[in-house]
Amino acid sequence: MERNDRIFVAGHRGLVGSAIVRRLQAERFDNILTATREQLDLRDQAAVNYWFRANRPEYVFLVAGTVGGILANSTRPAEFIYDNMLIHATVVHAAHFFKTKKLLYLGSSCIYPRECAQPIKEQYLLTGPLEPTNEAYALAKIAGIKLCQSYRTQYGCNFISAMPTNLYGSNDNFDLTSSHVLPALIRKFHEAKVEGSRDVTVWGSGTPRREFLHVDDLADACLFLMRSYEDAQHINVGTGEDLTIRELAEMVRDVVYPAAAIRFDRSKPDGMPRKLLDVGRLHELGWRHRIDLRDGLAQTYDWFMQQVACGEAMRA
Ligand code: GDP
Repeated sequence: MERNDRIFVAGHRGLVGSAIVRRLQAERFDNILTATREQLDLRDQAAVNYWFRANRPEYVFLVAGTVGGILANSTRPAEFIYDNMLIHATVVHAAHFFKTKKLLYLGSSCIYPRECAQPIKEQYLLTGPLEPTNEAYALAKIAGIKLCQSYRTQYGCNFISAMPTNLYGSNDNFDLTSSHVLPALIRKFHEAKVEGSRDVTVWGSGTPRREFLHVDDLADACLFLMRSYEDAQHINVGTGEDLTIRELAEMVRDVVYPAAAIRFDRSKPDGMPRKLLDVGRLHELGWRHRIDLRDGLAQTYDWFMQQVACGEAMRA
């Protein structure tokens, strides 16, 4: 990738896309292409073709999609499977047709079987049944990997796939009905502090284990892979370390509201018991994460205070 190459970040308003744009800007890439949802419906093949014909991106970061946490995934599966299947298909097809040099497709660690051996190696894909709470999303993401591999096999396209673990950071979604656990906990502890109530409710039993990667580390990994990874096989991106939801809740409590008391609502689903990625292949290539979870959490709480909480307080 040269500084003046045309680089399309599909999904630039999201958690991942915005981090990739920040990173490209910091490295002084000056031909970053973006399109808002209003400008371009990525589910519409004709519109995507038209946009590719006009803009001819040479590199594509395909990080757009309909995403959400355990509640959104289990209550809106139709949206998750329909939007994601189409977004991946249209962009991959246009990238092939308009001769994009390289495309990086981003999946998710939820693609792996529910009862997977841990840590999860790339080759465990499609070796068992999926976790029901995110099956629709996972199927769309698996189809995306196979899509990239098929275009590589049949047309020789240089399309690669990366599977990140659970992400967090600036620009995350803090809406309690659709967010993932980490931003949800930041909001819950913050609101309890503001309201002066001691109890904070955490969904499920607190025993599931999750791995968290700061989105700035992910953006760094995406540029690294775009520059150096050429394999057909997808590659895991994570830290290689996990913790229980209870431990995460305690860490958020310590950062946001140390006086709070944690309660568990066992009527809510736990989801996957554990999903720790094996990041051995990525480490062998020479990439490692840099941002420690506690530091990343504190930075994300600062971002939340500046961008979300202040705005809401002013509107109230
Ligand atoms: P997952 O990694 O796909 O299961 O997605 P989430 O990030 O939504 O949830 C991870 C785990 O955190 C699950 O076991 C949830 O039950 C648990 N969890 C605890 N409290 C919350 C919360 O307030 N919101 C969300 N989304 N998950 C929570």
